[in-house]
Amino acid sequence: MNILRKSIVIKLWLLMVMLVLIILYFTGVLQTAKLKQLYYAQQLEELTNEARHISTIKEIHDQNLNVNLLYTLAGAFKGNIMVIDKQGYIVHCIGMGMSMQNVAGEKINVVGHHDLPWKKSDLQSIMQGKTISYRGAYHFLDTDVLTVAVPLYKEGKIAGSVMLSSPLAPIEERIGALQRITLYAGLIGIALATILSLLLSRTLSRPLLKMHQAAQSMARGDYSRRVEVKSQDEIGLLAHSLNALAAELQEKITTLERLDKTRREFVANVSHELRTPLSIIQGYTEALIDGMAGTEAERKKYLADIHEEILRLRRLVAEILDLRKIEAGRVEMKMQKISLIHLVSQVFEQFQALAEDKQIIASLDFAPGSYTVKADPDRIKQVLINLLDNAVRVTLPGGQVKVNLTELKDMVQVSITDTGPGIPPEEQPLIWERFYKVDKSRARTGGGTGLGLAIAKKIIEAHGGSIEVSSKPGKGSTFYFVIPK
Ligand code: ADP
Repeated sequence: MNILRKSIVIKLWLLMVMLVLIILYFTGVLQTAKLKQLYYAQQLEELTNEARHISTIKEIHDQNLNVNLLYTLAGAFKGNIMVIDKQGYIVHCIGMGMSMQNVAGEKINVVGHHDLPWKKSDLQSIMQGKTISYRGAYHFLDTDVLTVAVPLYKEGKIAGSVMLSSPLAPIEERIGALQRITLYAGLIGIALATILSLLLSRTLSRPLLKMHQAAQSMARGDYSRRVEVKSQDEIGLLAHSLNALAAELQEKITTLERLDKTRREFVANVSHELRTPLSIIQGYTEALIDGMAGTEAERKKYLADIHEEILRLRRLVAEILDLRKIEAGRVEMKMQKISLIHLVSQVFEQFQALAEDKQIIASLDFAPGSYTVKADPDRIKQVLINLLDNAVRVTLPGGQVKVNLTELKDMVQVSITDTGPGIPPEEQPLIWERFYKVDKSRARTGGGTGLGLAIAKKIIEAHGGSIEVSSKPGKGSTFYFVIPK
């Protein structure tokens, strides 16, 4: 019972076997019945013909009929010939172990004899010229028989009857053989059902088992496993769904893991970024307390350094908060129609003095046009400051920083090119990550936080634009962004 509940194949097998047996049983029963009917009808016809034929034999009326003739006739159809007179008295009875000849004197009447099935009405029917028949037990001959009785005519009048009986055993035997064939067919059917079930187990239960295994690996956290699907049926469909589910789960979990990782990294980065300026401040203040600074100039230098670190900390905290806000979508962009020329020129001028100090040639270029876009001026300014600050910071004296404005079809493009060290290709996709710094040692002195580009990217994306970099190490970099008009 347990295995039945556990295996689909065994269920199928049982079902098929049951089907085979039910079908065979019914066809067997119906077939046998029909065949019996046909056999009996045929046999009856033959017997009737034989009886009619015998009744026409002249010698049959002869009281001293040659017994050999009757034996020959009875032997021909392996049965019994009985001749009775008008009143039903047996005249001859030959064959099937019987040998009564001309026994009219002994007065055995077929009607009412306890070993014979005949009734008075049967005799009357025969005497009216009818042919009658009987099938069943015939104790007189000690066996089951098929019997037919035809009228016996003498000079145009009915003078008695010829009754022919044939044993049923041979017919039953033939029907038995047929039933055996049905039985063999049943056995073959069961064997075929078994083979079919085994074949079905390949297409049915094996894929199901595979899916079961895949589901179990999923439960254990392995989502890489896929079920091979070939069929297009319901099982194939299920396998497809399972694969899709695994893929989706895998993706979701990877995203979750990545999110978790960035969150943890963020916390680690923030702590790290905070610790450095704090320890510098701590060092300088302790030096001051301990009176390590001898001269007034030295003390001023210490204080200036402390001040710088504090500014750095403030900037860091402000940027972190900013980035978090933009990322969480909590910063509302105050969109308005503005001319980018105005905004770019404004920021460019702020940096010109700085560039001159560093002996960097700074230039701003644009073809005539309106350069009107829908944007938040403060935020775009922040982007420009971040990009220009980076450009001026990385460019060495004698280098150049070029700002270019281009009006495209439905975008405005701003590009900032420097002749700085450039960014290695493998690092170019990474600079947009928070806290990412290409030159880790220089970042310290340069005072960058590694957040500027991350913030810039978020802002430009919030405007429906995009920001990219193209750079060759040793030659310089160009950062350009577009925003829709
Ligand atoms: P930071 O505040 O440190 O400059 P950013 O996010 O603005 O942070 O920049 C990330 C890193 O990308 C920088 O540390 C720097 O190494 C690199 N980078 C940015 N701009 C340039 C540039 N114009 N040329 C070369 N490297 C650059």
